[in-house]
Amino acid sequence: MNCSSLRFAGRVGMWRSHWSTLRPLSKVISTDLVNRRAIKAAYSSLSRQSSKGKSVIITGSSRGIGKAIALRLAADGYDVCINDLSVNQAACDKVAEEIRGMGRKACVALADVTNRDQVKEMIGTSVRELGPLHTMIANAGIVQVQHVLELSDEDFQRMFAINVFGVQNCLSEAAKQLISQGNCRPDRPGKLLAASSIVGFRAFPLLPHYSASKWAVRGLIQAYAMELAKHNITANSYAPGIIDTMMWDIIDAGVSKRTGLDPNEVTEKMAHEMMAIDRVGVPEDVAKLVSFLASSDSDFVTGQTQLVDGGIVFT
Ligand code: NAP
Repeated sequence: MNCSSLRFAGRVGMWRSHWSTLRPLSKVISTDLVNRRAIKAAYSSLSRQSSKGKSVIITGSSRGIGKAIALRLAADGYDVCINDLSVNQAACDKVAEEIRGMGRKACVALADVTNRDQVKEMIGTSVRELGPLHTMIANAGIVQVQHVLELSDEDFQRMFAINVFGVQNCLSEAAKQLISQGNCRPDRPGKLLAASSIVGFRAFPLLPHYSASKWAVRGLIQAYAMELAKHNITANSYAPGIIDTMMWDIIDAGVSKRTGLDPNEVTEKMAHEMMAIDRVGVPEDVAKLVSFLASSDSDFVTGQTQLVDGGIVFT
């Protein structure tokens, strides 16, 4: 089955057009049957397609959740471009080396995601080293603990520069690259992913601008999903809960300073009080969800923000 017949078969406006034209009902029914058979033939396989030879860029992947995603997607078959700030180069090189040891291609593209030119260069490096791009994961983010009435303009701007503008730079430049390559098909869509959070569903006290930035990611992802479906590109985000990374060292210290809690107890206490599953998450918990979102198993999923939080927020 060729691409144009698949596109025809999947056309969203199909039903509406039936009512607005005066075609005989028998013609409509027979066309629908052909379409439905074509869709069934194209999309009914229960096997996950191999990701071997596909390439992915993961921002902020020198450590934490980004690193776990990089290693998991390499295990899934992806060739991986590791990104982080230049201060984290040594850690990036180590992750890339580990991926090469798994038999995959890997490269490092240092870039600050707030800078669009650097993001373009990062994508250029990845394409040069690993071949055409298939998946972008805008994972890099920062956190800051602050009372809502003590937030400065600079606090707010920095948070949005990285967590929202940084995501936008990566998603939009990756989308342009995917469209210009012309290799996204209905049965092999390009994938855009970004890091949201549980606080993108319900804000946490002391994390006001962080929470707002993660709500913004959800909104952006919905817009990308709607606008890019016609280019055979899906867009989704993942929303981790309390995951044991260096980001929580910052939260522990900030919450402890403002509440008097022992910094060693903040994470455990929050996890114990809030989660259905009584343990802190690990980066690999998130990487497993991202593996699904980056694979063919999620080709019919778009515009979603998927929680992975051990049962804090229920949708
Ligand atoms: P992490 O351990 O702090 O790692 C984030 C990485 O991104 C760091 O290496 C950081 O470098 C880098 N980074 C920061 N600004 C950047 C920029 N402008 N350009 C490129 N890289 C930059 O964080 P994590 O816990 O793995 O979190 C990963 C993502 O998941 C973030 O978006 C975070 O908001 C989200 N998330 C995490 C949790 C959690 O519980 N850990 C929960 C919900 C959502 P520097 O440290 O040198 O700045």
